[in-house]
Amino acid sequence: MHVTTKAIVLREAAYKESDKILTLLTEELGKITVHARGCRKKGNGLSAACQMLVWSEMTLSEFRGRWTVTEAAVELEFRRLRSDLDRLALGAYFADVLDSIVQEESPADDLLPLLLNCLYALDTLDRPLEQIKAAFEVRCMSLAGFEPLLDGCAICGRMPEQPRLNLTQGILHCPACKEEAGEGISMPLSPETLRAMNYIVNCPGKKLLSFRLGKKELAQLADVSEAYLLTQLERGFRTLDYYKELQVPKTVFSS
Ligand SMILES: [Zn+2]
Repeated sequence: MHVTTKAIVLREAAYKESDKILTLLTEELGKITVHARGCRKKGNGLSAACQMLVWSEMTLSEFRGRWTVTEAAVELEFRRLRSDLDRLALGAYFADVLDSIVQEESPADDLLPLLLNCLYALDTLDRPLEQIKAAFEVRCMSLAGFEPLLDGCAICGRMPEQPRLNLTQGILHCPACKEEAGEGISMPLSPETLRAMNYIVNCPGKKLLSFRLGKKELAQLADVSEAYLLTQLERGFRTLDYYKELQVPKTVFSS
């Protein structure tokens, strides 16, 4: 069986002398593991397409349950992203998150466009990286079935003056309703940060980054979004740790 599909490489691993095993997120087949023969050889026609975070049109062939890349034409390489360590690290984290959420051979209808939009933003837009990261995290959680309920206090129904998000329950509550909100850590949100989070959950996909926040609010959104994703998925990511290591010296020098 042959299938031609658009695909992005979420993960690559060297295999044998000159091959790679790739984890792809594809339009037609969802997440799939494929064998790319000879792609580590110089001048091989598959080389460019078989790299992490490259978006291509691929022809895949299946034999006895195993998929092989037979042809590939690069559509987007995200060159600026690739030439900047912070952006590349963040892109790798996005890929890692999707790899952990999407099951093998199950579709990724909304998550694939989200990844592409966020990589495109990292590649071409001069938005703060923290904003792109937070937007990805919150939207990704919403699409994956972990949408936070942000319409008001989940206990008393009022719109809290000092809203808090319970990271485990994924609900908003006011300080007075803390006990009834259930187990888990709650983090404070300013009204502006809450509005931005609500926007990220509900906006059209293409307008994901069409919001602005002050520096303090953006820092708060970044903290809460990351903590929410890690709590909901009950795991950490080495790619995230690496991204954060890259940020540390800058914080020290700029303060
Ligand atoms: Zn309440």
